[in-house]
Amino acid sequence: MTSEHLPLEINGVVKRYRQGASVIEALRGVQLTIRPGEFIAIMGASGSGKSTLLHVMAGLTDVDAGQVLVDGRDLATMSDAELTKFRRAQIGLVFQAFNLIPALSAEDNIRLPAPDGPELTAKTVALLKRLGMLERRKHKPGALSGGEQQRIAIARALICDPSVVLADEPTGSLDSVSGQEICRLLRELCDEQGRSIVIVTHEPHVAMWADRVVVLKDGANLTEFSPSGARDAQELAASYQTALSPLAEASR
Ligand code: ADP
Ligand code: MG
Repeated sequence: MTSEHLPLEINGVVKRYRQGASVIEALRGVQLTIRPGEFIAIMGASGSGKSTLLHVMAGLTDVDAGQVLVDGRDLATMSDAELTKFRRAQIGLVFQAFNLIPALSAEDNIRLPAPDGPELTAKTVALLKRLGMLERRKHKPGALSGGEQQRIAIARALICDPSVVLADEPTGSLDSVSGQEICRLLRELCDEQGRSIVIVTHEPHVAMWADRVVVLKDGANLTEFSPSGARDAQELAASYQTALSPLAEASR
């Protein structure tokens, strides 16, 4: 994880979706730099391009213009095979729907992306312990609560020791208590292990855990602000509303 490069650099990224004769410009020159160990929340209305941006950062979608650098490597210069390997090693992905394999136990889901080796079992056990899931390791996803499934998905995202963890609405399928536990966990992983974390959310009580909130509108950067650190959802919601207000926009 030691690198003189920034974990993530997005330079003027444009992404268009073609649907028959029409073209949707989902990202219009997005700019974003993430420092090592930084926790970023991306907010914005539905359709503002948050998920597209996350997919672009993960190299799951190619871009029409601009550059995506992960640990200094330009994703566009890699072959599909290189990209798959690189993504596995450098990027941890967490989704709203957990995306665990139903037929595999919790521990086998965690091990899945990692190359087999002598230290894999020890690593898996360490992660299960750290995430409070050791007693549940033999359970299949269907026998776990939503919050527990998301912990397993986070462990799976960490098994290859990525420098960047990308999470798209990771609390969107959880009740508010489990959702807050997942947020606290991501925050701790960032603080303890220096992971860079990007979380897409429209919920103020999720974004309040971040060091920086980046707001997208219609596929472009609208503004950004830093939460006070008080973990106050109402305060964050107010900052977000101010950022979106036409008055604030007129003064920019
Ligand atoms: P968000 O996550 O902020 O809700 P998205 O990134 O999902 O926004 O979508 C941004 C825009 O791109 C929307 O207008 C959406 O309809 C469009 N879009 C997203 N994915 C596709 C796709 N696969 N094909 C066509 N249009 C898409
Ligand atoms: Mg989305």
